[in-house]
Amino acid sequence: MTTAPAPVALLQHRFASALPELTHAARAAEAPQPQLVVLNDALAADLGLDPARLRTPEGLGLLTGTVVPEGATPVAQAYAGHQFGGFARLGDGRALLMGELVDADGRLRDLHLKGSGRTPFARGGDGLAALGPMLREYVVSEAMHALGIPTTRSLAVVATGRGVRREEILPGAVLARIASSHLRVGSVQFARASDDTDLLRRVVDHAIERHHPEVASDPQPHLAFYRAVISAQADLVARWMLVGFVHGVMNTDNMTLSGETIDYGPCAFLDAFDPSTVFSSIDEGGRYAYANQPAAAEWNLARLGEAMLPLLADEQDRAVEIATEALGAFRTEYATAYSTGLRAKLGVLHADPAEADRIGTSVLELLEASHVDHTSFWRHLATAARDDAEPVRGMFLDLAAIDGWLVEWRALSPDAEAMDHLNPLYVARNHLVEEALAAATGGDLAPLGRLLEAVSAPFHERPGLERYAEPAPADFGRYRTFCGT
Ligand code: AMP
Ligand code: MG
Repeated sequence: MTTAPAPVALLQHRFASALPELTHAARAAEAPQPQLVVLNDALAADLGLDPARLRTPEGLGLLTGTVVPEGATPVAQAYAGHQFGGFARLGDGRALLMGELVDADGRLRDLHLKGSGRTPFARGGDGLAALGPMLREYVVSEAMHALGIPTTRSLAVVATGRGVRREEILPGAVLARIASSHLRVGSVQFARASDDTDLLRRVVDHAIERHHPEVASDPQPHLAFYRAVISAQADLVARWMLVGFVHGVMNTDNMTLSGETIDYGPCAFLDAFDPSTVFSSIDEGGRYAYANQPAAAEWNLARLGEAMLPLLADEQDRAVEIATEALGAFRTEYATAYSTGLRAKLGVLHADPAEADRIGTSVLELLEASHVDHTSFWRHLATAARDDAEPVRGMFLDLAAIDGWLVEWRALSPDAEAMDHLNPLYVARNHLVEEALAAATGGDLAPLGRLLEAVSAPFHERPGLERYAEPAPADFGRYRTFCGT
């Protein structure tokens, strides 16, 4: 007797079933010559997927969307969003939600493909993605995960064998991404713009079920949900700021309800510490500059509150009052998360908070004035806590100022050991990302592999990885990133 082989993945279709108004059934474009570029074996195993099977033609079919497991319902998701402040109805123009998987911890996770071909939301776009940007999302999202920052994960990048027309013809690829969901602030905005309160309620109830089940029993579950998203985002953006991450395109369609970082486009890590840093070529006004990220998040959360008004109270004025009061918590929650995190980076969590905060603020001013490399400063500072201040001193122009600061900081008895556990040695530095992507696009995957190795264990110093801890060479110049490529 023969039995049919089990499908390569058992996919659920909870989102598609619960919210058909937010979905469009869609199919992936053919991948003429699929070739696996990178696979996240550990993540695959965590999702109950067999990495060996994902490497077969059937597995590559799943990872590019060209093989749809029995029972799965791939959909493009509809959402809306404020993009650089302007409202638009959008949706996955080049992405597919293949369905949901249950991971080893029993959590529901989306399997989502990016670059899988045109959907009804594609507008003028070709629905495709180039290999470089998909690898960039892979590297940076995995680096963020290893830093302990909530994020979507990357399962695989598969080159399709199809050329993608940009300024030149580039190799095409599909990124397989995993998220606790792809519900965004823009998903709620889409429901609100549809003027259908029942739909709005179902979207929010679906988000509650998936991300904040604890609020379901609250006497005001929708308000409690709004508060929970505010807290999650305040905490997330504080973590970005502490590690020097610039998202680059914080539109409301790129802000999740789960509190995971999503949509790695023009993102980058700071080299020199400069609050006004903008990497994205399209962010001409600096709306999403490093220092503006908390304010941008708060603005987005105000849009979420607006979209939820019909669920907060029957009378609009009362609903506005309730939403405004709830949003008021963002600034305090952000400030608490940030200052606690900064004190931890300084190794002085045990010290008087007011004094430690003062010291934290003053060192940031010194970093900015001397254009100090953000990541290596914190790491060298732990060395200074162990009695060798020379690496830190060597980074500053104003020696008298840093020496004075070091005296004050040492008086708080910093804990070097604790600092090394939360100040990374290896981040996805811009020059290293560029080097790895250029090599990979030319067929050499070795630099990408080494970079992934470094950033996947960012706190643990290892011999042979010295250059991954070093600042960009002086001739690397000003860094620019590009969106939607
Ligand atoms: P993003 O800023 O990358 O989050 O993208 C904004 C919107 O543009 C999303 O709705 C995307 O699906 C869509 N989009 C981006 N690039 C393409 C493309 N090449 N083809 C179709 N849609 C795209
Ligand atoms: Mg997006």
